[in-house]
Amino acid sequence: MASHHRSTSTSEPRCSDGEPEPALETARRQLDRAAQRLDIDETILERLKRPKKVHEVTVPLERDDGSVDVFTGYRAQHDSVRGPYKGGLRYHPDVTRDECVGLAMWMTWKCAVMDLPFGGAKGGIIVDPKSLSDDERERLTRRFTQEIREVIGPNADIPAPDMGTDPETMAWLMDAYSMQEGETTPGVVTGKPPSVGGSYGREEAPGRSVAIVTRETLDYYDHPIEETTVAVQGFGSVGANAARLLDEWGASVVAVSDVNGAVYDPDGIDVAAIPSHDEEPEAVTGVTRGTRLSNDDLLELDVDVLVPAAVGNVITEENADAVRADVVVEGANGPTTFGGDAILAKRGVPVIPDILANAGGVTVSYFEWLQDINRRKWSLERVQEELETEMVAAWNGVREEVERRDVPWRDAAYAVALSRITEAHEMRGLWP
Ligand code: NAD
Repeated sequence: MASHHRSTSTSEPRCSDGEPEPALETARRQLDRAAQRLDIDETILERLKRPKKVHEVTVPLERDDGSVDVFTGYRAQHDSVRGPYKGGLRYHPDVTRDECVGLAMWMTWKCAVMDLPFGGAKGGIIVDPKSLSDDERERLTRRFTQEIREVIGPNADIPAPDMGTDPETMAWLMDAYSMQEGETTPGVVTGKPPSVGGSYGREEAPGRSVAIVTRETLDYYDHPIEETTVAVQGFGSVGANAARLLDEWGASVVAVSDVNGAVYDPDGIDVAAIPSHDEEPEAVTGVTRGTRLSNDDLLELDVDVLVPAAVGNVITEENADAVRADVVVEGANGPTTFGGDAILAKRGVPVIPDILANAGGVTVSYFEWLQDINRRKWSLERVQEELETEMVAAWNGVREEVERRDVPWRDAAYAVALSRITEAHEMRGLWP
């Protein structure tokens, strides 16, 4: 496949202890790098490097045995120049203030690349959700909602599910908020179950957008989808939905994996027959046909398209040279490190960035919010049609920048996002 790439000299950022750089540092470096290519006002750039506000709250929880534990929660609000803050809430022991800020920045770019009227936010609680009973998770969620109630709302900041949270968590959040406000307010949160204002098609949306973007990219590089082989790392919400759609559209998915390892069959895998992580965790390793591989081996398969859709930082300076796929489509958030990205760019391997490829999730969250504030439910068919339209429009916007600036796809996506955000800042001016 042909490519539109330019080499870069960026090396992978590392902390002094050799660990990969935290999300905030990576997000700031990516912003700096993108800003160098664009003529961005220095003061606007300085503002975009920082969050507008970060809320830190203490969340006491009465355990089932009557004892009380105290947790820390955050809500980082990065930029709201284009609309209310939007972003996930994660329950994870490794949640930090800075991680929330870095992830909030990515949400700002993701919403802008999709031209959604939202800014970026992220939040969470430092807790291992597996250590809590269902009742404890519910009480923790309700108390956390109360602690951040004054800074969220359908016109202010709209959380969504993320690691360790799910539609049920969002239903509790919506209920806690509504009880305190005295009115049912479904638009305060997205990713809810459809019975309480959630949207049909929200769960499969990030995987669907990965598939749409892959299809458009193949078409752009004149590669018929029927002759395409695909390897997908991670068979969860994103990976399984992307794999199944690509299979349905004629591609041959030759490798899939979960946390325990990968299965590879050059004749193609019947991905519709494998339960996803949510349907049956670790079902991939139960597949009887094909060859067993490690997750690292999967990344190096000679396929047309590689979709890393499990976790971050899997394509690095160490293995980017060994990646043999013609195109990488990022299903997970941040699967390619700075250094890995630079090597792929040098080798002319197009990498379709996460902020575009998996943005179907926040796009259908936007549809959910529209349905909530208008009190009007959309059919699944409408959700899918509108998502298709939005994804193709966003992909085309990024493609135009790739062609106009002769830059990699990630830089082009940042160019689209940043020009929209900086233009909004310039038009609104500085208050007072
Ligand atoms: P998930 O929990 O549904 O599935 C994750 C899958 O990855 C599972 O099959 C799991 O076994 C596998 N996995 C976990 N650790 C692994 C490892 N170290 N190596 C290989 N496989 C591993 O998660 P998901 O919702 O599909 O999210 C996957 C990625 O996509 C994450 O980076 C997430 O942030 C991102 N994402 C998710 C959404 C969403 O709404 N679900 C939206 C945008 C981006």
